Amino acid sequence: MTVKADPTAQAALLELQAQDAILAQLQHRRNTLPEIARITELEAQIKDVDGTRIELDTQVSDLTREQKKADTEVEMVKTRRTRDEERLNSGAVSNPKDLASLQHELVALERRISTLEDAELEIMEKLEEAQTGLAVVQGDLDSLKADRDEQVAARDAAIEVLDQQAADTQAERGTSAAGIPVDLITLYDKVRGQYGVGAAALRARRCEGCRLEINGADLRELAAAPEDEVLRCPECSRILIRTPESGL
Ligand SMILES: [Zn+2]
Repeated sequence: MTVKADPTAQAALLELQAQDAILAQLQHRRNTLPEIARITELEAQIKDVDGTRIELDTQVSDLTREQKKADTEVEMVKTRRTRDEERLNSGAVSNPKDLASLQHELVALERRISTLEDAELEIMEKLEEAQTGLAVVQGDLDSLKADRDEQVAARDAAIEVLDQQAADTQAERGTSAAGIPVDLITLYDKVRGQYGVGAAALRARRCEGCRLEINGADLRELAAAPEDEVLRCPECSRILIRTPESGL
């Protein structure tokens, strides 16, 4: 089926093609903003570091509990020592055997306190280490999140600009399309769906869609066609728009 359209409408199709190329380019830029890749990267790092933070946070909780438990134990044994010392000093225990037993117990309690305090100290050291680690990781996490938020803001700002440009181009496209008959637009959309570019200018005997020079026989056929006949490139099938520099 041959589509017919006056030369002005055909020329408007080239405008439409140029606007569609801009729209495609804007969409491509929108999809490939460097911020998008950076955000993905940062999100992965945040997830990773947050995992470490949770681990350290659990360690701090566990060690805090252990430390309290160790502290209670030390206090219990110290209370018992105080009680024994009071008994010893009160003179209430006079039996030498009981006295020896009490002194023996006091020595044992002293040793027990020392062992428990050593263990508590060890726990406290581990706790301090975990707390320091947690603070560092929390700092890293905060800075990664700040970086991510910055990238998100930059991405959104870039998208806003691109979307505004796309809206402007879309409006211009509407104006261009208004002068083109529906059947030509339909053909254009079909060809564009197949080849990406729907319409190309013919300049100096060359199709600007496929960049090939059109051979003599085809060229003569094109030259003979009425000016309102919509031409197709014999090489790439794109809609071929004649220009004053077509070389026909
Ligand atoms: Zn071509």
